[in-house]
Parts: sequence; structure tokens; C-alpha cells
Amino acid sequence: SVTYSSGNWAPFTDNVKNNHAHQLNLITLLTNDIEHEKLYFDIQPQVNLANHGIVGGEVLIRWHNEHLGQVSPGEFIPLAEQTGLIYKLTDMLIEKVFSWAYEHPQALVNQCLSINISALDLLQEGFARRVIDNVIKHQLSAKKFTLEITETSVFDNNETVHKNVKQLHKAGFKIAIDDFGVGYSSMQNLVALETDELKIDQFFVMNLLNDPQSQILCRNMIDLSKALEITSVAEGIESEEILKLLRQWHCQIGQGYHLYRPMPPVKYLALLVENDLP
Ligand code: C2E
Ligand code: CA
Ligand code: CA
Ligand code: CA
Repeated sequence: SVTYSSGNWAPFTDNVKNNHAHQLNLITLLTNDIEHEKLYFDIQPQVNLANHGIVGGEVLIRWHNEHLGQVSPGEFIPLAEQTGLIYKLTDMLIEKVFSWAYEHPQALVNQCLSINISALDLLQEGFARRVIDNVIKHQLSAKKFTLEITETSVFDNNETVHKNVKQLHKAGFKIAIDDFGVGYSSMQNLVALETDELKIDQFFVMNLLNDPQSQILCRNMIDLSKALEITSVAEGIESEEILKLLRQWHCQIGQGYHLYRPMPPVKYLALLVENDLP
């Protein structure tokens, strides 16, 4: 089902057939809006948990369609992956983020930006080359960017994935493993992909107060990161109590509604000005 926040497009109430029509409609509209570069992005600040300073932000794609209203990425990203639209989508987003960063160099003075890419992107020959050419074209430092990837089983010993990651690393990009601990994530890839950052899935973070097992897993993921000299990031911090626990456990970076919600780039820039004041 699609998340409707506005728009005049009546949701289908009927069966599978309509659901199919609905999917087709979504794909058509998404194709068209990607073509016309109508998708945009928000940025969610990331905070150094030791001193509360903003160390960067995660770029989160947004889609507002004139008929559908706002559609959540949880809805359209899987669809884009299923239909192959994801390649264009990722390229378009990276182009947008780099142009924005070029126009607003102050966004990268003391901070970095994280961009989500799809596992499918890394399975594509030449992906790294395109991203590297693009960062050079925009006269940006690759060191200022982290690429967040969610592992899948296809990563195991996949030559193209490893080649792309190696090339991106060599150019200066950092690699984060997203949603660590849920779905498919392997300890082997953590090392094989020379991971710079481990993002503990929000599922564990959200359950910290009422689930002892989430506490154990969370603490261990933080300790594992430390042992491997990987930066630990906790996402989905929704309360002060959870924030306190994570600080106590020396998790390095935090992200979540309790700290900051995703916001338009303009707001993010304003926040950085406040943040950098002595
Ligand atoms: P993700 O990469 O795990 O991103 C974190 C999601 O959690 C974001 O949802 C963010 O808005 C949300 N979030 C952050 N803090 C909190 C919190 O404290 N509580 C709760 N409940 N949620 C929080 P969003 O923006 O809807 O994105 C959903 C997913 O869509 C992302 O999960 C990511 O997998 C995917 N996605 C988003 N942007 C992109 C993109 O540009 N490219 C690709 N390939 N995927 C993207
Ligand atoms: Ca992410
Ligand atoms: Ca995540
Ligand atoms: Ca994800």
C-alpha cells in the first residue's frame, strides 16, 4: 500500500487486479518524475554523541507527485529496484547532491554528507567510475561523502561489488553499512568491504528501553565497531533515555527524531551556522 499524505488520487479499495493497476500507475508516474528530475532530498543531521556537535547529515530522497502526493521512499525505492529505475534514480540524486554541495560549499566545511545507494548500483560495472567522475566534475572532495549501502547476499565474493567499493575507497569516499544487524549482514563483508562506518539498525535502537536483547546486541555492535576501528552510528534515537544509554556505551554518532528530523537543505544550512558559532 502507498502512503498518501495529500493529493486527489483516490486509493484503490479493490483486490489484486486493482493493486496491479496501482503498481503500474506508480511505476509510470515514477519513471516520468525521475525523467523530469522532480525528486528532491531532505537532510537529517548526524550528531557527535560526545559533544552534540553536528558532524554531517544523511541525504534522504523525497518524492512528491502531483497526483499521488507525498510517497515515502520505503514505498518507491523497492519498486525502483524491481523495475531497474534505481540506476537513473541514484544517478539523478547524486548529481543533485553534488550540484547542491558545489553551490553551498559551507555545507562541507566542518561536516560530511551521507548518501544512500542501492546494492544494485554496486552490482553495476562502471558505477564507481561514474560517481568519481561526477565528484571531480563538481570540484568536490570525495572524502566529504559517505556512501551507505545495505548488504544483500549477492555481495558475498561478488567481484563487481568489491571492484566498485575498492575504487570508491581509493578515490576517498567512505563506506557505511546500513541497517546492520537486520536482514542480511555479514561479519565477513564488514571486513572485506573495508567498512568505515557501521549503522546500527533503528529496530535495535528503538527497542533499547524495553528489550534486554536489543540492549545486548546494540552494545555488542558498538564494541565490535570499536574493535575493528569502524565508526559506530545509531539511528532512530527517539528519546533522551535512549540517547543517554548510547552515550554511556560510547556510541560515536547518533541520528534520530529526538535530535533532529530530516529537513530541507536550506534549513540544514541554517542549522550549521548556529552549530558552528562558538
Ligand atoms: P534508512 O537509510 O535506514 O534511513 C533512515 C530512515 O529512518 C529515514 O526514513 C528517516 O527519515 C527515518 N528516521 C530517522 N530518524 C528516525 C527516528 O528517530 N524515528 C523513526 N521512526 N524514523 C527515523 P525515510 O526517509 O522514509 O527512508 C526510508 C528508507 O528509504 C531509507 O532507510 C533508505 O533505505 C531508503 N532511502 C531513502 N533515501 C534513499 C536514497 O536516496 N536512495 C536509496 N537507494 N534509498 C533511499
Ligand atoms: Ca541510510
Ligand atoms: Ca538504516
Ligand atoms: Ca535501509
